[in-house]
This record gives sequence, C-alpha cells and structure tokens, in this order.
Amino acid sequence: MSRATVSMAARRPTRQIRIGSVPIGGGAPVSVQSMTTTKTADVEGTLAQVYALAAAGADIVRCTCNEEEAAEGLAHIVPRSPVPIVADIHFHHEMALAALEAGVQGLRLNPGNLRKEAEIKQVAAEARDRGVPVRIGVNAGSLHPELYKRFGGATPEALVESARMELALFQEVGFDDVKISVKASSVPLMIAAYRLASETFDHPLHLGVTEAGPPPAGLVKATAGIATLLAEGIGDTIRYSLTADPVEEARAGRQLLEALGLRERKGLDLIACPSCGRAEIDVIGVAAAAQAALEERSLPLQVAVMGCVVNGPGEAREADLGIAAGKRKGHLFIKGRIVRVVPEEDMVAALVDEAEKLVEQGMEARLAAAEAGAEAEAEADRRELLRARGADANQAGQRIERIRRAVAEGDAPAGGPEDG
Ligand code: SF4
Repeated sequence: MSRATVSMAARRPTRQIRIGSVPIGGGAPVSVQSMTTTKTADVEGTLAQVYALAAAGADIVRCTCNEEEAAEGLAHIVPRSPVPIVADIHFHHEMALAALEAGVQGLRLNPGNLRKEAEIKQVAAEARDRGVPVRIGVNAGSLHPELYKRFGGATPEALVESARMELALFQEVGFDDVKISVKASSVPLMIAAYRLASETFDHPLHLGVTEAGPPPAGLVKATAGIATLLAEGIGDTIRYSLTADPVEEARAGRQLLEALGLRERKGLDLIACPSCGRAEIDVIGVAAAAQAALEERSLPLQVAVMGCVVNGPGEAREADLGIAAGKRKGHLFIKGRIVRVVPEEDMVAALVDEAEKLVEQGMEARLAAAEAGAEAEAEADRRELLRARGADANQAGQRIERIRRAVAEGDAPAGGPEDG
C-alpha cells in the first residue's frame, strides 16, 4: 500500500467551538496547546514564553490565573499575544471572573476543586455573556471526593460523570460553549476515559496525559495516550504535560500531529537509518549535526541521513532530500535521485545548502540542476563498496552457517528461549 492511501480512522464528528481565532472540533485541524511556567504577573517574561511556544508550534497557550496580580497580568498579555490565551482556574471562581474581565479567549475550570454550584453557574453565565468557551478540565488526581467514593476510585466512569455533572450545571444557565478533558497520569485509564467521553459527549475533546513527567519517559507516556486516541479519530486539541521547558511540549505536540498526518509539515522531519555494519560514517553524529543545522533554519522538509550508499538512497527514496555515505564521499539525493557527490567532510554543509535551495526553488528546478555525471559516479562508488564489503556486511550469512553447523553437531551455543 502506498503512503498516500494509508489513513487512520475517520475523525469523530464533534461540534465546533472557537478559542479566539482557533477553531476546535467540527472538522478543524487538531490544535496544539501548551502552558506557561512563568508567573503570569510577570508580563514581559510570560509574553516571551508565549512567543517561544507559538514559534515551536503552539496554537493556543494557557496561563495560570491564581491571584489578582495574575489576572492583571493577563489584561496586558492577551492583547499582545500572537495566539489565543486560556486562563487556568483552580479553587477560586473569582479568578475566573477576573480572567474574563482581562479579556482571555478561553477558561479552564477544574470541577474537582471548584465545587460550589452557585459559583460555577455564575462563571458559566459570565462566559456565556462574553462568548468565551470553557474547558471542563477533569483530572483523575483531583477528582471530586464524592465521585471518588461513589465509583470506588478514579475510574473512567467517574471522570466522565464529573464532566457530565459540570456540563449539566452550565446548561442550566444556557451555556454549552464547552470542550472537555478527562486526564489521568495512567495511560490506560486516560485512554478508557476519553473513549467513554467520546461516546457520551459531542463536545470537542482536549487530550492529555497529566503529569507525564520529564522526557524521555514523559514523552513516551504522553505519546502513547494521545496518539492511540488520535489514531482512533478521538481528540480535537492536545497538550503534552511534560516536566520540561514548555517549548518541548509545543514542539512534541506539533511533531506528533505532523507524524500522524493530521497537520501539514511546518518544520523539519529528519529520518536517519539506525546504522549497521555497512555504515561508512558515524550516522548518529552526522544526523545530530544535520538536525541542529536544519532546525535552526526551520525548513519544512523530510531529510534523510543514511549510513551507506548501498541501501541508503533506495530506502529513503520518499524523503525530499537525503545524503548517504559512500567511500569518503557523500551522495546527495532528491527523492532518491543522486544530484551531487561531495567530499565526506562537506556532507552536512552540502545537505543544508541543498535544503535551502530546495525550499527556495522547488523540486523540479533542483532536479534540473543535478550535476551531470553524479549518478554515474555514485553508482561506481556503490559498486566498489559492494565489491569491497560484500553483499553481507554484518557477516550474518557466515554466522548463520556456524550456528547451523553447531546445532547439527549437537553443540548448540549456550542459552535458549528458556533462559529469556
Ligand atoms: S544498510 Fe546502509 S542505510 Fe541501511 S542501516 Fe546499514 S548503513 Fe544504514
């Protein structure tokens, strides 16, 4: 099956809401969110982080609104922000009212710690009058104690019931401009809760694995939960909750959506072979150098770094651009076609130079500018390497022969499946 015909489950239909200029649900592109770690009262510091998050791929940024100074900070931040701002509210409904007054484009309320019905309705009525959507942000770690008791713990049913109860209160004041999250730090619990939420509500869902922790484990956990649901067509906006610079969160969110084909490529997608006995270069080192140089320029390309010319250009023929290591040379290729052969020490520089030209001039023009004789030189290089190293660079064939001989002679190497 070709890549073009592969697709994931159809997106689950949801109603659409708008956080400022960003539509969520109802067929809109899945959006990326992140949260600032600065004090919201520190206007310049927070704005600098908001800009960094937007540059890394965040469509929406959330800031805490935990005190009056934070709400006052929001009044300065919102008009200068490049993306819509959501205020995060816990415990104090008056902070929600203050954030609305500050002009935020969205609110997040936690039903687990903002529990008084009259206060919830007051916030919902104010949000309704101002046309500001609210996220009902249920969190397994701060589930309402009564629900915890009724369901015997933070079960998927308990999380969804918490959202349903809050929604019912909103609806009593005629407010339904809502998205919902049912986050947990346990990936299986979070997946089950969102699946149930998607059957229960037609409101857009905000996905996340809460308190995922520091990378790389945090990245793996968040990706396991979010990607599983997105592949099932569930989820309209996402946030990675990492114990790291929030720029990492925004970047990871964006990269996940690009990897799943849910957003158009905005940045670099570097693919590199895992290296093997054939590699003619330090693949890890060259890939890291190429990544650093290309990311700095934020070029929207898929670029391949391959350890050898024997298999490299063929295996990476779908990449926009790539380089494969020959005998002290690099073979530069566009969509699998060799366009230039360069000295080994110039590989990264040549790759970056070609990437910039490719973005500037387009594929056709760069293929037309291919160096005459490059393909022939590359093919000669490839044949020479094959002759020198043989078809089996890892000597797997010889090893298999030795294993077979040893087994046939009843002298099998120590260790077997039962040791594993
Ligand atoms: S065969 Fe070449 S391209 Fe494939 S993993 Fe080995 S070094 Fe990399």
